Order: sequence, then C-alpha cells, then structure tokens
Amino acid sequence: MDAALITVGDELLAGDTTDTNATWLAGQLTDRGVVVRRVLTVPDDETVIADTVREYSDAFDAVVVTGGLGGTPDDVTMDAVARAFDRPLAPDDLAREDVERTLAAYLEANPDLELDVDVDAEAAIPRDARPIINPEGLSPGCVVENAYVLPGIPDEMEAVFGEVAGEFAGEVRSETLYTTDPEANMIGDLAAARERFGVSVGCYPDREARHNRLKVSGSDADSVAGAVEFLRERVTTVAADEGRDREETVGDR
Ligand code: AMP
Ligand code: MG
Repeated sequence: MDAALITVGDELLAGDTTDTNATWLAGQLTDRGVVVRRVLTVPDDETVIADTVREYSDAFDAVVVTGGLGGTPDDVTMDAVARAFDRPLAPDDLAREDVERTLAAYLEANPDLELDVDVDAEAAIPRDARPIINPEGLSPGCVVENAYVLPGIPDEMEAVFGEVAGEFAGEVRSETLYTTDPEANMIGDLAAARERFGVSVGCYPDREARHNRLKVSGSDADSVAGAVEFLRERVTTVAADEGRDREETVGDR
C-alpha cells in the first residue's frame, strides 16, 4: 500500500505554523508498513486542493488530507474534496449527531457561553462519503473513495485518524542501526547491502547525537534482516545514545 499526504493551510506556507501533522501522519503510516510517496502543503484554495486531491487519489492507494475544516470562510477543504470527486456537499446524519453531541458537551462545560454554530454546515460532507466522528472536537472527518479527510488541529487529527488507522496496512518493514563510522567509509558496504538484499538503506547523519542513523527498509522481512546482519558485520554499530559520549563528531565526513 502506498499513500500521499496533503496538508492544507496558508499558515503552514507562511511559516507561522510548523507542519507537525505531516510528520506525525508519515510516521504512523510508515509504522503500519505503508509507503508514503508524497507530502505536499497547499494553500486554503479550493481549486488547488481539489486538483491535488484528484491527482493523488488517482496516483496512490490512499490520500490523507488534513486541515481547513470548520466554519470560518478561509476553510474550504470539504468543498474542495467534494469538487474533486464531483459530488455535492450534503449534511450527513451521523456527522450531525457527532456535531450535536460535541456542542452539547461543550455547552454543558461552559454554561455561560453562547455559540452560533451552523450545525448543517459543520456536518456537511461529500454526498455518500463515510463520516469519521471527531472524538476531540467539532469538525467530523470523512472518507471519500480513497481520500481520508481529517481536521487540522493536531489533537483532533490524531483522534480522527485513530478511528480509521486500521484501514492502513502495508508490507514494508524497517530496522534502524546507529554507527559512529564516517559516511565516506561506509559507501561500499551500504551499496553492497542494497544490491545484495534488494532493500533500501538510508544514511542520516545526526550531528547532535554524534552518530549516523542507518535505516534499512524493504517489503521482505528476511531480506531486511539479512541486510542488517550484513551491515552489523561491516560497520561499527552503537546504541542510539552512545555517540554523544564521544569527543569526535562523525556527521557527514
Ligand atoms: P484549520 O486546519 O484551519 O482548522 O486549523 C486549525 C488549527 O490547527 C490552526 O491553529 C492550524 O494552524 C493548526 N493546523 C492546521 N494544519 C496543521 C498541520 N498540518 N500541522 C500543525 N498544525 C496544523
Ligand atoms: Mg484554516
């Protein structure tokens, strides 16, 4: 299974907000064996969102969209996704129940507050989409064909993803090694591991931790294990926190 991520929001493009959703979702999908092929940030622009969702929906097994849900006029993601799949937006019964339940709980906890929420608008998802309830906030998500639409607020995004996480499963497994060997000294062994076992081997220098992290990934667990053993015999492996105690920096020499 492969997937693409689209994070929506002018504030992400302006550098006002760090795109923690993309990193969190990429980690979750990777942990489930799914290959994440793209991460793209787009503005709150209905046409751009619709075009990108359509393109990624065709190109990948799943596309996960986060951000730009809710009642304010700058949030247009639900309209855009509806447009991407040529469907109108329509209030959904289950989504409405979810919105009403969340509102009732909120008003009970804040009795002095007056809220003017357009429940129908909050509960509108593309027609015949499957709603995903939002256990942490107001805006429900939804699934349309292979597109998963999640809210942008990180706690809500994580909770809504949790409702559908079981639908993401792939074959890719990976193992991580840490080494204090300089990159330049490992080039031959890294290339040999890739070729011999048909796996990918990424090398990620971490100056602060004073090690190079090697990540071996592949869809065959035996090949990944074989490549890890092959590398362990050839490079100096250390525990993840061991490099910090060394005087010398390894980095990307
Ligand atoms: P919205 O997506 O417009 O509903 O945004 C709700 C809140 O979530 C805002 O404070 C956003 O900045 C924040 N947010 C939206 N997308 C992301 C993201 N990809 N990573 C981190 N925070 C986000
Ligand atoms: Mg927004």
